[in-house]
Amino acid sequence: MKHVLVLGAGQLARMMALAGAPLNIKISAFDVNSEDIVHPLTLEVLGNGLQQAIDLADVITAEFEHIPLAVLDICEKSGKFLPSTQAIKAGGDRRIEKALLDQAGVKNAKYAIIRSRQDFDTAISHVGLPMVLKSALGGYDGKGQWRLKSLDNVESIWAEMLACIEQSENQAIVAEEFVPFQREVSLIGARNQQGDIAIYPLAENVHTDGVLTLSTAIDETELQQQAAKMFTAVAESLDYVGVLALEFFDVNGALLVNEIAPRVHNSGHWTQQGADTCQFENHLRAVCNMPLGSTQLTRTTSMVNILGEDCVPEAVHQLPGCHVHWYGKEKRAGRKMGHINVSASDNTELKATLIKLADVLDPAAFPALKPAAHAL
Ligand code: AMP
Repeated sequence: MKHVLVLGAGQLARMMALAGAPLNIKISAFDVNSEDIVHPLTLEVLGNGLQQAIDLADVITAEFEHIPLAVLDICEKSGKFLPSTQAIKAGGDRRIEKALLDQAGVKNAKYAIIRSRQDFDTAISHVGLPMVLKSALGGYDGKGQWRLKSLDNVESIWAEMLACIEQSENQAIVAEEFVPFQREVSLIGARNQQGDIAIYPLAENVHTDGVLTLSTAIDETELQQQAAKMFTAVAESLDYVGVLALEFFDVNGALLVNEIAPRVHNSGHWTQQGADTCQFENHLRAVCNMPLGSTQLTRTTSMVNILGEDCVPEAVHQLPGCHVHWYGKEKRAGRKMGHINVSASDNTELKATLIKLADVLDPAAFPALKPAAHAL
């Protein structure tokens, strides 16, 4: 029996616990808000504080990148933390992420860092318009972002950016060229302590208001090779151990990295039904010093996020190849509450099932599903 302590007590820790049970890997989770150690499924408080949980754990890992530095520090000092503080920081600070991508020789959007009004002017001339402005710290799912399309809006956007910069001493804005991409894809892979790498098929992702709504595994050899090369460069430059996700813009068949996530990822949930070994099991295998499991696609699969809803019609369970995964969270508007994996024997059947699924779900709660299914 191995004991893994996960920093973060959300759905990703929960799904790690579900995947770890058959391997006799026991998970406890650190809730960064309450600072309690909790059971990842029941959220029951387990009583021992962080230091005792660190002492009891064989391995410590993380389910998200916005972890207080003091917590990261004591975990790193224990010598049990994987992937590494450096990797977590790269996922949580866009400046470090950009520097890492450049150093690994991986293509990403042209950028500049802004802390002052003068930096903003320099960024406008270096990056050009239109540009996307993102807070360096704390932004995710499209939050903390602005679009500058014309110079008329510089002052109003600067006022908002300044308020954001002033919120914290270490805050800054990363200005990025606007990338005219056709679609967004992501790659999930795992690297273990021996340096072995196992990579899943790419997923094509549809976002709605900055939040992932549909993710579908795709089979495109040329694109897969490009993505795998970039994955390997990033993973090796970090000496990474665990599951790592890379999000890309696809611009006429050429990939640019948008973001990295040093953890299991929402766009990898399809692997629970569509791959030989799911991303959660492979993350645990990697951090527990085990051989990685096969990442082969076993059935063509899409994942549909359930946002702000705590039930779905009974008919969803009657659809062939549909599996609902709830996260056991209290309902809140827009909150990620669960997901539905839809598997089929081929793309035609997958598309037909997704259209049927869109027909039985409330279109107000799943606005992107029907058009996205038709576009597959
Ligand atoms: P992010 O939080 O960086 O993933 O950004 C949220 C969404 O904004 C992305 O999924 C893209 O749809 C869009 N976006 C981000 N950066 C850019 C960019 N440089 N050019 C065009 N669209 C972008």
